[in-house]
Order: sequence, then structure tokens, then C-alpha cells
Amino acid sequence: MILREIIAYLEKIAPPSLQETYDNSGLLVGNREMEITRALICLDSIPEVIDEALEKGANLVIAHHPIVFNGLKRFNGSTHVEQAVIKAIKNDIAIYAIHTNLDNVLQNGVNQKIAEKLGLTDTRILEPKIGILRKLSVFCPDSHAEQVRMALFKAGAGKVGNYDACSFNLQGDGSFRALEGAKPYVGEIGKIHWEPEIRMEVVFPDYLQNAILRAMFRTHPYEEVAYDIVKLENSWSAVGSGLIGDLPEEMSPQEFLEHIKVRMNIPMIRYTDSIHKKLKKVALCGGSGSFLLQRAISQDAQVFLSSDFKYHQFFESEKKIMIADVGHYEGEYFTIELLGHLLTENFPTFAVIFYGNNTNPLKYYC
Ligand SMILES: [Zn+2]
Repeated sequence: MILREIIAYLEKIAPPSLQETYDNSGLLVGNREMEITRALICLDSIPEVIDEALEKGANLVIAHHPIVFNGLKRFNGSTHVEQAVIKAIKNDIAIYAIHTNLDNVLQNGVNQKIAEKLGLTDTRILEPKIGILRKLSVFCPDSHAEQVRMALFKAGAGKVGNYDACSFNLQGDGSFRALEGAKPYVGEIGKIHWEPEIRMEVVFPDYLQNAILRAMFRTHPYEEVAYDIVKLENSWSAVGSGLIGDLPEEMSPQEFLEHIKVRMNIPMIRYTDSIHKKLKKVALCGGSGSFLLQRAISQDAQVFLSSDFKYHQFFESEKKIMIADVGHYEGEYFTIELLGHLLTENFPTFAVIFYGNNTNPLKYYC
């Protein structure tokens, strides 16, 4: 299988433009045209992982965390980052990272996987992203409106929450005069023409813009298509940080801690007291999610499950919400399972293996 095909599939699930500004998701090492024999999935593509890929005949490592975040200036193997990159390049092993873009999608995302482990229902993004949506208005002759509309829907326009095929259509008359050299679909050169047209409006996420414009130009009959695109300030419920949902049944704080421990196989949980005797509404964020604490409080979550809280941040719960810090590695471990499942479902004959050893740099002494 060609690496390009695997990347195209992964980026359909988690478009790279959805990654945070500090992130470095994408193809870090390798060439898109490489023939891939087998993929090894892990959380961190540290040198030991590259060794195992070599040993198991995998020439693609798919990691959740990018091994390279900032620019590298030297390649002498003095850090684990340089060692991993050098080893991968020397052995023709590609490294692909799918990080905050996978965190930020609701469907098939990291947080949805954690919610699934905990059995949460009625899940939604905790802090939806603003500034991703665009609106396209296009003026189309009546005769081709249906064709253009369907092509726009097929390219991904018109999806709003649990609805698709959303559009607004307004009838009117468009005017134009074709000048010398024009090849008008209707009307005559040199004469002002009036044509019954439909103004069609659809919303879409910015990363689909090229595909949507291609679909519009392909199906619209005019030589010069009249259209405009505006950036919307609306938030988009399909993309953003963290997730919130309900437990299948109310639990005491103690029962919830036990629930996390068992369902997520967590060895140790750091937590704050709860003022609630029974918990139902859970906010969560895989990885370092402390920045979402106030948002979780404002959304009436009774408990916030995440990791990497600092001592003083635990006080910021102000006793309004219980914090459960499960550890960064432990909270995101299921990303390996998630990616493995997605890949084998879409490429049933492609060999995918999981990195079996623990890459958590943090050990617990109890
Ligand atoms: Zn992480």
C-alpha cells in the first residue's frame, strides 16, 4: 500500500488544519510515495519504537504525539528525538503523527474513545471551535440548480450537527452582457441578458473549500461563475476541545473513581473532593486538559477527567467540580486501539501492529 493512500484516509478523519498552532502533526519522516509493508501504531515514536518497527518489518510508524515539535538544528544523536529521527531515516521508516487534529474531532476522535470506554451517552464537544466554518453563496440558473446543489452536498457542504443537505435557496433574476471573446452558456454577445437564477447558500468547514469549489465549477454551466465565500464566527459542534456527556447511571465519587480504574485500566488517579454525592455529567479531555477546567465548570459538569494538572490548578476547581487526573499516557493509551481499529476497518488486508511496551516516561512507586 502506498503511504499517500493511508495518509489520505487518516486526514479525512482528522484534517491536519484542525491541529493546534503549537502542534506538528503530519508526515514527519518519509515520502508519500513509499510502499508500506506494515504499520506500527504507538503513542510516542521514541527510538525503542523504531527498533521494534525494524524488528517486526514495519516501515511506517503512526504515533499520536509528534516526536518533533520544534525545529531540530543538529543531528548527532544526543537526544532521544534525534536518535529516533536518525534511526527512522537510516532504515527507510516513515513516521506519521496524528495529534491535536485527532483530539479535536468528535467523530472517531481521542475523546470519543475515552467516552466510549466510560459508557458516556449524549456526548458533545466541550469547547467547540470558532472560525472554521465558511458560507458559500452561488448564483446558478434554475436549470442547473439541483445538479450544483447535489455536487456541493457530495463534496461535504451543508452539514450542520446531525443534519446534512442543508441549504437556503432564493429565486431571482441575474443579468449579464457577454462581451467579445466570451462563450456564454445563454444570451447573445453584446446584448444584456436576464436569466432566472437561484442564489444558493451552504456552510462548510474551511478545509473542504478546494473540494467544494471544484465541485461547483465542475457542475455549474456558466463561463464565469458568480459566487462569494464569507468566514463565519459561528462555532462548529463537530470540532473542538474536550467532550462532555452523561454516565449511564448516577455514581458516587468513589464509584466513579473505581469505574475509571476498571474501564480504563488506570493504575493511579489523582483527584479532588466532590461536593456532589452523585455524579452524572462528566467532562473529559485526553492529554493535558487543565485549560478546559473553567469551561467544564460553566457547562455544569460534576467531574472533569483529564491529566497533567499542577498542584495549584487542583485548587482552581473551587470545589465546584471534582477533578480526576488519570495520567497523560494512561488517558490517551486507547488512541492506539482507535487508530488500529480505523485502519483495519478501512484497509482489511493491510497489516497493522500495536507497540506493546509501555512508552510512559513516568513510573509510579507506591
Ligand atoms: Zn497527549
